[in-house]
Amino acid sequence: MVSYEENYLDKRPQSLCKMCGKCCRLVTIPYSFDHVKKLADEGDERAQDFVDLFEPYESVEAAKRIDNDTVENVIKLFKLDGKYDEKSLVFYRCRYIQPDNLCSNYNNRRILCKHFPSTPWAIVPVGCGFEGWLFWKREEIKQRVRKEKEELLELKYLKKRTKDEDTLKRMNLVEQKLQRNIDMFKKYGSEDW
Ligand code: SF4
Ligand code: SF4
Repeated sequence: MVSYEENYLDKRPQSLCKMCGKCCRLVTIPYSFDHVKKLADEGDERAQDFVDLFEPYESVEAAKRIDNDTVENVIKLFKLDGKYDEKSLVFYRCRYIQPDNLCSNYNNRRILCKHFPSTPWAIVPVGCGFEGWLFWKREEIKQRVRKEKEELLELKYLKKRTKDEDTLKRMNLVEQKLQRNIDMFKKYGSEDW
């Protein structure tokens, strides 16, 4: 099986990064800083990592002043128009990003930073150099899933006409594999592709 690194990370053209620093300056999660801090104090390692790295903007308006388009895009994607408050939508900036957009902790940066954008479905800031490449990666995957759906239908049809037990066993294995591949993208909507 092809690893995540071989299949995605190693193919990602790093030269597309414009070094705009927006991904380090506009991070959002649907939790207030107090909530994440409480989780960190209770020993949650991911929360501890987050608190070590990020500090919250005082308001969504303050984050908009960094990049209005990116903030508006998040509001649109999460269907939050007019429905968010300062607890449900918080933007954060990394403590290590410098005015020249370089990371002052580059050699020790987290896996989270090294992998960003970590999947073709990652939400990237508006204008990020990876936008177009991520779009094509998503399209490639959609095409592959559509083909697998066709193969699955064909296989089901052939199974009805097969009497040989061994052949049926092999077909069942292929069927399971195809279904697994399709289900892997369920959270991104593969049922509708
Ligand atoms: S937002 Fe995109 S282009 Fe800008 S620094 Fe981050 S990865 Fe690079
Ligand atoms: S640690 Fe460095 S790479 Fe990671 S978010 Fe902060 S500034 Fe960006």
